[in-house]
Amino acid sequence: MASIDIQSIRKSFGAFPVLHGVDLSIRDGEFIVLVGPSGCGKSTLLRMIAGLEDVTSGDIRIDGKRVNDLAPKDRDIAMVFQSYALYPHMSVADNMSYSLRLRRTAKEKIASAVGGAAAKLGLDPLLERRPKALSGGQRQRVAMGRAIVRQPKAFLFDEPLSNLDARLREQMRAEIKKLHGDLNATSIYVTHDQIEAMTLADRIVAMHGGVVQQVGSPLELYDRPANLFVAGFIGSPGMNFFEGRYLVSGDRAELQLAGGTALPARRAAGLESGAKATLGIRPEHVVVAENGALEASVDLIEPTGFGIIMHVRVHDIPLKIFTLDRALLNPGPTVRIDLPADKLHLFDAEGRRLD
Ligand code: ATP
Repeated sequence: MASIDIQSIRKSFGAFPVLHGVDLSIRDGEFIVLVGPSGCGKSTLLRMIAGLEDVTSGDIRIDGKRVNDLAPKDRDIAMVFQSYALYPHMSVADNMSYSLRLRRTAKEKIASAVGGAAAKLGLDPLLERRPKALSGGQRQRVAMGRAIVRQPKAFLFDEPLSNLDARLREQMRAEIKKLHGDLNATSIYVTHDQIEAMTLADRIVAMHGGVVQQVGSPLELYDRPANLFVAGFIGSPGMNFFEGRYLVSGDRAELQLAGGTALPARRAAGLESGAKATLGIRPEHVVVAENGALEASVDLIEPTGFGIIMHVRVHDIPLKIFTLDRALLNPGPTVRIDLPADKLHLFDAEGRRLD
């Protein structure tokens, strides 16, 4: 397996810049997930690592060796695509063994590599079938099997589960995680699904507009998002935000909203009284309590089975609450809520996190 170093990578398509200088060091055996909204450049970055796209400037190193000018086949990296990219006229076994046959690997070695991968992926009964006789999930498994038999230095996944239905996605997600536990292979996984990112990653790379916004463990990004973009992107339902003016008097701080409402804030170093700021709180951190400090009118209740998403308004400002308390299925027209100070996130006028 391999470490991968990405240094000051820029990419433009013609005059159109897509990546604005990406730096990333991926450790041997690490599972990295690139997340971000459509068009943020995550697939382009992955394709450059694979050698499928030229680098405009900057360097990519695999195990310390600069690979910018190496052809994809010489990088010893396997890529798993959303579209599976299987050969339709070949059996599952032949699809899986194709790269080894090209390399003229000995027959016994091929048989044992295919057998091992098939056993890991539950493909044994399907080895003689053609891809068209497989379900989407089975095809995706074959695509992974084909990658595994090559024993590459690293695996690159480009939204591999996005063609599957929700249940199968969940199942395959767990299988990929288990597989990574078994193989301990350096992996880079692109998705716009933040649940996949949270559950699979050792570290998440959150991207927006061709710029890396934050790199860290899933819980670091969830608990301490570096900026408003990451705070809003990670988590579902998403974090609630309030924009206003940050006012300090003595030990107390509050956020004065446009309509005159004040929300309790907390003291933050680096933010002057009177400055513009945004307060954030996750839906599961809003507390519904009879003696809560704020009154909220109830707009909508969404029972998810697991919990309840309440859509409320505090003086016309919309807010989502997530609760497990089924007594809140019929809350009446208003509830009282608290925003606990230790659960508040504060961001400056540029959207940067303040502590
Ligand atoms: P998605 O989640 O939709 O796949 P992404 O984050 O993977 O998005 P990329 O596919 O990397 O985004 O694309 C980044 C930007 O580069 C987009 O604006 C896209 O239109 C542009 N782009 C990608 N490939 C090319 C190309 N071959 N020629 C011109 N522009 C391109």
